[in-house]
Amino acid sequence: MTLENVRVRFAPSPTGFFHVGSARTALYNWLFARHHRGKFIIRIEDTDRTRYHPDAIPDLLSGLRWLGLCWDEGPEVGGQYGPYYQSDRLELYHHHAERLVAAGAAYRCYCSPARLAAMRQEQRAAGLPPGYDRHCRHLTRKQVADLEAQGANPVIRLAIPTEGVTEFDDLLRGHIVVANRQLDDQVILKSNGFPTYHLAVVVDDHLMRITHIMRGDEWLSSVPKRVLLYRAFGWNMPVLAHLPTILDPSGKGKLSKRKKKLADGRQTLTYIHEFRQAGYLPEALVNFLALVGWSYDGQTEFFTRDELVRYFDLNKVSKSPGAFSYDKLDHMNATYIRRLGANDLAGRLLQVLLRAGLAADFDTVLKLVPLVRERMKTLDDVVPLVDFFFTKDPSYRPPMLIQRKMAKEDALAAIHAAQRALQTLPSFDEQTLENRLRSLAGDLGLKAGQLFGCIRVACTGKKVSPPLFGTLSILGQEVTVRRLHKAASLLSSWSE
Ligand code: GLU
Repeated sequence: MTLENVRVRFAPSPTGFFHVGSARTALYNWLFARHHRGKFIIRIEDTDRTRYHPDAIPDLLSGLRWLGLCWDEGPEVGGQYGPYYQSDRLELYHHHAERLVAAGAAYRCYCSPARLAAMRQEQRAAGLPPGYDRHCRHLTRKQVADLEAQGANPVIRLAIPTEGVTEFDDLLRGHIVVANRQLDDQVILKSNGFPTYHLAVVVDDHLMRITHIMRGDEWLSSVPKRVLLYRAFGWNMPVLAHLPTILDPSGKGKLSKRKKKLADGRQTLTYIHEFRQAGYLPEALVNFLALVGWSYDGQTEFFTRDELVRYFDLNKVSKSPGAFSYDKLDHMNATYIRRLGANDLAGRLLQVLLRAGLAADFDTVLKLVPLVRERMKTLDDVVPLVDFFFTKDPSYRPPMLIQRKMAKEDALAAIHAAQRALQTLPSFDEQTLENRLRSLAGDLGLKAGQLFGCIRVACTGKKVSPPLFGTLSILGQEVTVRRLHKAASLLSSWSE
């Protein structure tokens, strides 16, 4: 069933780089919006200036674009319900806070930081829960006038009902009831005129006509305060769905921003730009993230973007936390790499190789695609696989040329023979190379693996490389012969 006029938002605070957990929240909102042909809105929640990080917004927007999560309203694209930066909306928060004061639902609090600190200390000493003691809630007009005359700079607090309960429904968490006496008379407007977070979010979600709120479940505990704000304004609440936490690969702790070592020695990645730099495909990461907390039928793993949009269903989002498995991501990424068209993959690999400082060109990379396609988990894996194509000549330790059960002289003879055989070969295609080198091994009384091993090290500088005949064919006759020649002279002048 498609809902009408769905409007959802992703509302990051620009306090740091775009984290993979936030990306999952953005993705679910995006999928939900696209599924229902609604709008996906980005709102930048930048009212906490002390935590503002100047690189956060560019990092976020480029990360969203890289993932293909384009937005209908928000930074750079504008929209009918802007501005989309909270710091440009201060007047609105002011106006709405005053509206609540006028209605008696909020009040000015003149308590000094010193008084609040003393109060907190007393509460601690008495073993009481922390909270504002509502000292200013019932000030007389005269008291207020005096305080104003003294130039006191008030905050505005919400007057929370002292009795009863606040209840709400969460699509994933069910019906939640909180006793009002557990809630604090929260500040909604600070003395510097900035709203606190809850006021800004409630005002914006309402004015931006948000219909559904999907966000991480660390925000669940703030909902009662927001419900009371909605009630004080007389507004309807959007539908809520608090998404399950993402756990680290061990499934024990929350996926944190701090780097950890995985069992295989790799470091965990947490920011979207790190996945990008490490050679993950955005389509693989999107597919993977969609499944950290949601599943279609409990078994299908690969979905195109269109399929994700078609099948995404909030009711099928899991209620329990899901672990982030780097192994699963690698497996998915490798599969996506294998499925890419040759030209597409070559284009992406070319970028990686150029970034690694290699003088690669598209035509050569396109030829390399069949040799490396099956051997990569991430695009970056291509660099050590093919770097020797783009360097003058590889460097290696000469004894690497000597294969199992061979003496230096045997290896030297094999390399000389290979050089002679290959420099007169009329054609340098894979099949001709294979036929010639297999018969040469026989003539020399060597196992094929021994001869091929010598040639492999001579031409690639490595013991493991992409398939040999394809590699030599792409390197070409001139380079192959030159590298064999060089190997022979290196080995002959090497002494144990
Ligand atoms: N600005 C909050 C954050 O950075 C989002 C809270 C919300 O979605 O209401 O995560």
